[in-house]
Amino acid sequence: MLSSDLFEGRAPSTRGGRLAEEYLATQMAALGLQPAGDDGTFFQQVPIVESTVERTFALSVPGATYRYFEDVVAFSGLESARVPVQGEVVFVGYGVNAPELKWNDYAGADVKGKWVLIMVNDPPAPADEPTLFGGPALTYYGRWTYKYEEAARQGAAGALLIHTEESATYPWQVVQTSWSGTQYSLPPAAGAPALGIKGWVTERAARDLATRGGKDLDALRKAASVRGFTAVPLGVRAAATLQQRSARKTAANVVAKLPGTNDQQAVIYTSHWDHFGVRDPQPGDAKDADRIFNGAYDNASGCAGLIELARAMARAPQKPARSMLFVFVTAEESGLLGSEYFVQHPPMPPAQMAANLNVDGLNYLGPARDMVQLGSDRSTIGPMLEAILKERGRVLGRDSHPERGYFFRSDHFPFAKAGVPALSISEPKEFTGPNAAALLKKQEDYNGKDYHQPSDEYDPAWDFTGAVEDLRVLARLGWQIAAASEMPKYSEGDQFANVRK
Ligand SMILES: [Zn+2]
Repeated sequence: MLSSDLFEGRAPSTRGGRLAEEYLATQMAALGLQPAGDDGTFFQQVPIVESTVERTFALSVPGATYRYFEDVVAFSGLESARVPVQGEVVFVGYGVNAPELKWNDYAGADVKGKWVLIMVNDPPAPADEPTLFGGPALTYYGRWTYKYEEAARQGAAGALLIHTEESATYPWQVVQTSWSGTQYSLPPAAGAPALGIKGWVTERAARDLATRGGKDLDALRKAASVRGFTAVPLGVRAAATLQQRSARKTAANVVAKLPGTNDQQAVIYTSHWDHFGVRDPQPGDAKDADRIFNGAYDNASGCAGLIELARAMARAPQKPARSMLFVFVTAEESGLLGSEYFVQHPPMPPAQMAANLNVDGLNYLGPARDMVQLGSDRSTIGPMLEAILKERGRVLGRDSHPERGYFFRSDHFPFAKAGVPALSISEPKEFTGPNAAALLKKQEDYNGKDYHQPSDEYDPAWDFTGAVEDLRVLARLGWQIAAASEMPKYSEGDQFANVRK
């Protein structure tokens, strides 16, 4: 139903998106679940800021101007039509403040109202400390989103990330295309620090900027790769005025509750309902070209899974211990906006949320021995899950690409940032049965050809045997977490363990 053409690709704030919201709310109502959105409804309205930066943007320093698109891309953390930033540029290395790792690139630095120039990725782990910043795995300190968040917390007015192909793992063109069109964001939360200008600069521009202050970028970067580095004012002032057109839109998270005997705390299942809508016709399109992003796997399948979890629990002869919340979030594809908003405006404080279990895509290929859950190595939920899988003759798989940082890119992540132990289901790697090898190949084909394309469509030949088994595991896990005497928690030393402390 959700992936049918009738829903027009479920873009937030469109007719198809509203149909998806109504459909999901109706399913929850039919199951007898309680509305837990705004004003006694199933809907939590999420404001979404849609903004487009004028291409006249430029970053100026004495003697040079870095051009938009060529040398720099920029966007704003504010909604104003005109955002001027001018001030000194301070090189802050990796821009990391990690007390649990005794690493603070901002120690003793004054960046208030200034520009900070930042390297992306994690600082490297030295030979005598091979697990520093996760070793080869990417930690959240390495993500560009973190760099901007920390710069804002430190009071900077503008932040410029240095793009290098090696550290970003993608070429400058990817930065250009992802940041130069229409951008979506949440309005800045009241009282929360926000950056006037968030930018990326090419390595060439960063090198030039450092040189103008009489500094050498390579030497600065080398110094920044060891603990104890102190930020370096470059002795250059930079100025830019960002002009943008922005508008507000609204789309809803659909929030339903199955009250437990302990209604003060809850286990939260999430799944995003949105996808990309309908794409504009392109030159060379066939007359009948399919332009609808049905998003059958991504993520109608996950929503279907959540509906079935809700159905099973609503029919259970007993109430759960802690309450169950089923949250169908919006605007995941625009940057996890619905889940972020839910965590910022929660129906109960995050400290009362026992866990978040996120479903982003169900296994439609066939039965699998393993279950892979991003985050299972971070908290006490991992061992609980492993025990359930073992009972059922299955195994807990591992994230095969920890260096890619998938843990930071799904709807469970805003929960993790708020200290809530969280998991997100990922793709199995050990299919069973005579077709196992062919299924792995099919999975690769989907990722190569159909991911985020109009061809992500429902096929009656899909095999949900593996999905049904996964959902049984997720149901049991959530039910056990709800009944456990203690709340789950992050492992000692995990980046998200400190939030609740
Ligand atoms: Zn997607």
